[in-house]
Amino acid sequence: MFTPNTLDALRVEVKNTLAIQSENWNEKYLGLPVHVGQSKRKAFAYIKGAVAGKVYGWKERLIAKRGKEVLVKTVAQAIPTYAMSCFYLTKSFCEELSSLLGRYWWSQQDKEDTIHWISWEKLTKPKSMGGLGFRDMECFNRAMLSRQIWRLIQFRDSLCARVLKARYFPNTHVLDASPKPGISNSWRSLLHGLELIKEGYIWRIGDEARVNIWRDPWIPWPWSRRVITPRRGNLLEYVSELIDPTSGVWDERLVRETFWTDDVHHILRIPLREGVPDFVAWQYDSKGEHSVRSAYKLQVKLGKPLIQGEVGASSATSSINQRMDDSWTRLWKLPGPRNIQMFTWRLKHESLALRSNLKKRGIPVEDTPCLFCGKAEEDGGHLFIKCKHVKGVWRALEMEQERGML
Ligand SMILES: [Zn+2]
Repeated sequence: MFTPNTLDALRVEVKNTLAIQSENWNEKYLGLPVHVGQSKRKAFAYIKGAVAGKVYGWKERLIAKRGKEVLVKTVAQAIPTYAMSCFYLTKSFCEELSSLLGRYWWSQQDKEDTIHWISWEKLTKPKSMGGLGFRDMECFNRAMLSRQIWRLIQFRDSLCARVLKARYFPNTHVLDASPKPGISNSWRSLLHGLELIKEGYIWRIGDEARVNIWRDPWIPWPWSRRVITPRRGNLLEYVSELIDPTSGVWDERLVRETFWTDDVHHILRIPLREGVPDFVAWQYDSKGEHSVRSAYKLQVKLGKPLIQGEVGASSATSSINQRMDDSWTRLWKLPGPRNIQMFTWRLKHESLALRSNLKKRGIPVEDTPCLFCGKAEEDGGHLFIKCKHVKGVWRALEMEQERGML
């Protein structure tokens, strides 16, 4: 209950006043640890335990990938959600959770040490881009935390918002809050959410128009949300100075004199709202409302340059980068049972346990040519589509046209 810095005398006084006989560090309150302490890993170990218990408890009954997909999405990924809305669980913890789920996903019956044929990172891509739509835990964590910051912005009079303001940013807007030494674990966690909010909020102009022209985001540019015109020696400071005081509309002449054409084009179309103060909106929603869903998408996009580099390095599935490619979407619409779709999905990723695929992953395989014709490497494309003998089977089934579509 007390921090280690609390004086003994004070502890006794508080305990006497509240009639508390003993304090307990390991208690949970409303399902969350009361005291996180130095090691988040320790404090949140129960999450990993719960996830593992859930997925492995179900193992016997759900061997098919289809069942596993449902289990991972609806149960295992949902367990940490509550903790993630209050605490930043750290990147490494999220990675451990992912690898736990990855091991489960690729495990067969009781064997755990199986090859992870497709990286977890690729599995977290949307289905239309070759993944399975699993959740990137860390991105989701940040998106959940950004929701809390959004609430602090929307409900500035709430008790929580007032307490946090008094403690951590008494003289500034929450958007300008920054980490300082000695802040609590929960506030430090929320600041991770703030980082994400900063990437997507935009000021809407009301009566005050106290938005800073050069520094604040208020232009609906898709990326920077700020003016692209350089300030140079300009003396104008606030958006209010660009508004004609008598008519209450944009001072078009001044705007045109001050900004580059592209900015002018945007500014003159920004509505000026009467009777409301300036307010913060979310750029990635048509109504300006923040949602965990859109914040998650943004966070995934922000992390992308790195991911793309990594995917590019493994050339096997470079098609995953082609966003216009609709072949993945078509794949999931193929008529037929789910496990056949899943099989086709693995075929397309070249992730079936065929000779050349095994060899690529460093497993000693003596020969890699096709067992039927011996002329080409045994990989998915050859064995199921291109091989001369297999072509005969497609023909015999009168499915030559379908073969062509693959
Ligand atoms: Zn062949």
